[in-house]
Amino acid sequence: MKVLVLNCGSSSLKYQLFDMEIEQPMAKGLVERIGIDGSRIKHTKVGIDSVTKNVDIANHKVAIKHVLEELLDEKVGVIKSLDEITAVGHRVVHGGEKFACSVMIDKDVIDALEECVPLAPLHNPANLMGIEAMVDVLPDVPQVGVFDTAFHQTMPDYAYMYGVPYHYYETYRVRRYGFHGTSHYYVANRAASIMGKPVEDLKIVTCHLGNGSSISAVDGGKSVDTSMGFTPVPGVIMGTRCGDLDPLLITFLAEQDGIDPKAMSHILNKESGILGISGVSSDLRDVEEAAEKGNDRAGLAEKMLCYGIRKYIGAYAAAMGGIDAIVFTAGIGENSIPTRAKVCQGLEFLGAEIDLEKNNVRGKETFISTDGSKVKIMVIPTNEELVIARDTKKIVSETK
Ligand code: ADP
Repeated sequence: MKVLVLNCGSSSLKYQLFDMEIEQPMAKGLVERIGIDGSRIKHTKVGIDSVTKNVDIANHKVAIKHVLEELLDEKVGVIKSLDEITAVGHRVVHGGEKFACSVMIDKDVIDALEECVPLAPLHNPANLMGIEAMVDVLPDVPQVGVFDTAFHQTMPDYAYMYGVPYHYYETYRVRRYGFHGTSHYYVANRAASIMGKPVEDLKIVTCHLGNGSSISAVDGGKSVDTSMGFTPVPGVIMGTRCGDLDPLLITFLAEQDGIDPKAMSHILNKESGILGISGVSSDLRDVEEAAEKGNDRAGLAEKMLCYGIRKYIGAYAAAMGGIDAIVFTAGIGENSIPTRAKVCQGLEFLGAEIDLEKNNVRGKETFISTDGSKVKIMVIPTNEELVIARDTKKIVSETK
């Protein structure tokens, strides 16, 4: 079985075609600047060859046509006919309270996703465009939606509710949703499998640290708390997002500087976090380099990030009544040796002891705790696309 995995942004589209017999991607690629001057497609036949083509790509439907052409291409393609694509799995950012697991996409699901647009105005419209374009181009191929929020639907109400008047929840579904669910699910289950224990028996804190970062408490394989909230802005400081704030800071700044809601959203989403504090970059690599050269604000951003992560780990250990494992994943979690070291220094009281030599690793699945550490600390590269492909295969096989 071959499954095409799509992740549509407003002006970009990432794809991978999986051979599900071996659970490996055969081809992958990225279409950028959809609907903008200078659009291009980069396609890779895994392990063989890559091509980049500069072509006019007016919309997602055109983008998908180009993707299918590349997949069929004589030289860099991997299939002979579109009939070989059994199903398409879509990453969908927000499933609201409606979707606690992946689903076969039909008209009712599309309507429900449209209802979720106010909850994720930046992401869901792009995901919907991808779904609609795909249905147009491959009308007979089953499409499955896999939601970033679904894994967190197991949180108890006392963890997901905010302390605002209850009617806001009833009217607007204002609550914590959490994101990166597919990644937290994947690394928690991988961790259990590497530890040789059933995930049901483990309490794991998963740290997905990338451009956007979130930390989750996974108890017995279920998400019981997570650091992102109604939006992906709260939690630890991120590349450009502010993380946790005193909410009245927002009204204070709005009044002081006459900032309207749209401009405020831009400040908190795009100008804050590691970029806003360091004034150097949103990319932690640049900030680490600047800090090493003596830039104090870059050093402060690093410290705020590590302190924030450590606080969440401590909080989630308390929330779950202990922890068995801490997992680091995504761009920073997989690659930043100093971040992992600084986060873990100070967690010894929990029984978590990092081995600084083992920590000297990037992008590799491995233990980084000392042999005697009660709590296992691990680096596990995430693989959201594989989870989407697996869920898609499962749902399509069940509905046949
Ligand atoms: P996204 O959330 O966009 O998927 P990624 O998970 O790819 O992002 O993470 C991107 C971030 O990872 C970059 O912004 C950078 O800060 C960080 N990163 C990647 N490699 C390194 C590295 N070697 N050292 C420190 N940080 C890194």
